[in-house]
Amino acid sequence: MSDTARLFGTNGVRGVINEDMTIDLVLQLGKSIGKHFSTVAPEGSDVSVALATDTRVSGDMIKSAVSSGLMATGCRVLDLGIVPTPAIQFYVKTHDDVVGGVMITASHNPPQFNGIKCIDGDGTEMARENEMTIEGYYETQIPCNPWNAIGSLEQVTGAGEAYVEAVIAHVDAAEIRKAGLTAVVDCANGAAYQTTPLLLKKLGVRAVTLNANAQGEFPGHPSEPTEDHLRDMLRLTKDVGADLGIAHDGDADRAVFATAEGNFVSGDKSLTLIAKTMVNAHPGCTVVTPVSSSSMVEEVVKENGGDLIYTAVGSPIVARRMMAEGAPFGGEENGGLIFADHQYCRDGAMTIARMLECIVRFGPLQEQIDALPKFYVDKRKIECPNNRKNDLITNMTEVFSSRGQADTTDGLKVTFPDGGWVLMRPSGTEPIFRIYSESKDPALAESRGAEAEKVAQEIMERIRGSQPS
Ligand code: MG
Repeated sequence: MSDTARLFGTNGVRGVINEDMTIDLVLQLGKSIGKHFSTVAPEGSDVSVALATDTRVSGDMIKSAVSSGLMATGCRVLDLGIVPTPAIQFYVKTHDDVVGGVMITASHNPPQFNGIKCIDGDGTEMARENEMTIEGYYETQIPCNPWNAIGSLEQVTGAGEAYVEAVIAHVDAAEIRKAGLTAVVDCANGAAYQTTPLLLKKLGVRAVTLNANAQGEFPGHPSEPTEDHLRDMLRLTKDVGADLGIAHDGDADRAVFATAEGNFVSGDKSLTLIAKTMVNAHPGCTVVTPVSSSSMVEEVVKENGGDLIYTAVGSPIVARRMMAEGAPFGGEENGGLIFADHQYCRDGAMTIARMLECIVRFGPLQEQIDALPKFYVDKRKIECPNNRKNDLITNMTEVFSSRGQADTTDGLKVTFPDGGWVLMRPSGTEPIFRIYSESKDPALAESRGAEAEKVAQEIMERIRGSQPS
């Protein structure tokens, strides 16, 4: 991680253990985080910081290093153990004496990765300006406290249970219990291995569990919850006659689903279904989603009398816009859904509880999915060095902006008169430029995607030719 000027990516600090994610880095980061939280804590009070991990093999090692840094700078570290990311966020949000949190996870990345995600005192993912403050401290020699003013380390039990209780309080638990549903739940050997089976038990759902043990090598399948990785869950859902299948990513801030027939439900469809129920529960409300989401969400929200606001990609951006607009619901097409009445962060367990309610009230998941409008997405990517991304966007804007309505919320999105769109967006983490094309006509989605890719390649060739590299 040579570029320490930008330590935090869009999802915290991440890297391969003992390669770029070393204990030296983590110790210095722990001291930097400790200094930041000490600065924002009220004068004279304990600087209490919650800490949790997912199930990764390196969890204890990273936890030890970050805890040492926090204690050296005077923090009282509250170790919640292994819990989902939204569970530590809920703990921080509901404990006024806790100034912030540190979640040790690399979410859906392979097992050799780990990472650190910081949480502000209100339980939200840390605001960029606070991350920048920590990055600034990281570059400096951070003074540690004298021996009699160092912090402490305390084990805290029950954070997962309290989180599950809070989730249940937001849904009609009696109605769900009465339905006597069966679910196959795949915990991906990740952070929800205890909380999600507990949630289902408390909601009277018969849970058939898969990969519901804390095994940080992820023997079940890679922890990104794609259709391809969830073959066992899909097959089992059908075989046991379950009402639905459920799966998480590694830190369980996301949840995705399967129908009773064992069909994978893509994240944009579950987002749309739950958006529909939220708009019906809050007539005329606003739903917030990134520009990369399917128009299916907008069409269904508007049909049901709601309003839709698009943001740049990134769940903290969605969450903060929801706060500003007073929106009860928002989410991403990867299964990361945010419910304002619970907390302003992606929440896998809350998503499950809402989906159960949705099935109990409106019938089998497959029937609900079949009733949604059909859209097709064509996804492509081209290589583009980070320092050429702006040039590419500028040139693409010149070519495409006359073709439809141009929106530059994130990259360039051109919506054509027939309602189809092409989104051209630089990746925030890789030297890649992504091209998404959506239409109700699959052939049109593909031809527009192909055209955008061809134009982008031609522009890249011109840029490469005109500038010495
Ligand atoms: Mg995650």
